[in-house]
Amino acid sequence: MNDSFFRLDAGYQQYDWGKIGSSSAVAQFASHSDPSLKIQEDKPYAELWMGTHPKVPSVRHDDKKSLQDIIASDPERLLGRAVCQKFQTTSSLPFLFKILSINKVLSIQAHPDKSLGKVLRSQDPKNYPDDNHKPEMAIAVTDFEGLCGFKPLEEIADELNRISELRNIVGEDVANEFTCKIHSNATRGSSEDEENRKLLQTVFGKVMNASDEVVSQSARKLVKRAHERPNDFNNSALPELIIRLNEQFPDDVGLFCGCLLLNHCKLQAGEGMFLRAKDPHAYISGDIVECMAASDNVVRAGFTPKFKDVNNLVSMLTYSYDPVEEQKMKPKVWEKCSGAGVTINFNPPIEEFAVMYTTFKDTVGTSHFEGLDGASILITTKGNGEITVGGTALKAEPGYVFFIAANTPVDLKALDTDFTTFRAFVGCN
Ligand SMILES: [Zn+2]
Repeated sequence: MNDSFFRLDAGYQQYDWGKIGSSSAVAQFASHSDPSLKIQEDKPYAELWMGTHPKVPSVRHDDKKSLQDIIASDPERLLGRAVCQKFQTTSSLPFLFKILSINKVLSIQAHPDKSLGKVLRSQDPKNYPDDNHKPEMAIAVTDFEGLCGFKPLEEIADELNRISELRNIVGEDVANEFTCKIHSNATRGSSEDEENRKLLQTVFGKVMNASDEVVSQSARKLVKRAHERPNDFNNSALPELIIRLNEQFPDDVGLFCGCLLLNHCKLQAGEGMFLRAKDPHAYISGDIVECMAASDNVVRAGFTPKFKDVNNLVSMLTYSYDPVEEQKMKPKVWEKCSGAGVTINFNPPIEEFAVMYTTFKDTVGTSHFEGLDGASILITTKGNGEITVGGTALKAEPGYVFFIAANTPVDLKALDTDFTTFRAFVGCN
């Protein structure tokens, strides 16, 4: 059997924040790939997992042999020599590739970098089971919204002036200090920038350490304001967002540390964002392709019933404050291919992964891709096509997932005009 190119069956997770029944792209993909799967219309389908993660390992479609076992039979050829050496692996992919279908907000969170990951694990192995970093990248498959990074400081100062509930939680002294002392237009890394970050940290720390009673009282007033005086807010999308997220997590601190302090980021299909280590973020709604380093390291802040590690969270964040447009990635055209399709590469500043996005809008034809240094996983999200490797042609329909070994040239052929694929690979190239 061909072990350098084959179809995969990917498992899924039914977390309660997932979209329900066949409205979920995860359910659509899983059931199209495996027609024996009957979608339960009252159950959430949150995540499709593509890779070698032991929790939900992918298997070869034809014989159900695990991808991990197949790779282990010849890791240097299948994963690529550079990947084996760099990531010290003989069977696992360094990334986990996912589809997420989000109906309800996920917890506001941040991920440690490598050095902090080691510290957290040694201090608290129960809550921090592994010591790796966990960079994440999200690319929208349908319209997506999330919270990502702190808002520009002038915007937060404006909110402190307009929204007395936020001012109440932060306290008059800290609010005044923040609004008076922030430096506008500080250059990144300058002493002004350092001061700005400290001021922001103090505000965030006050919000995160407010008592439950103060948070819930203030949250009720904030929601009332959103209903009755929407013009009090400096962003017209905020009142609706606050009301909606309060229905999902009533009286939660996330209304303050999330909706009021973090950027509300909207992505259209094909736009992506990279979540740097130590940047707070939360997914709110939409279907996305997500790629991450194989790790489970999460520090949570709000919109969650799970453990919140406020002290570590407040001390670990970078307190970067960039406008929402700067949170979006600027993908480049992928040069190592030719033909009818358009391929752009989302290449974050880490080594574990990059994701190629290929579309064949308004055209039908073939694109040829040179082999990559590392192994890759490809999923079709739209339209119908065919993938050919060394004379083997396999049908590619929505939800079909493929493993492609290192150094394997590939032809993608569109059979209709909106054939769309995402391909995650190790970013050694
Ligand atoms: Zn995350």
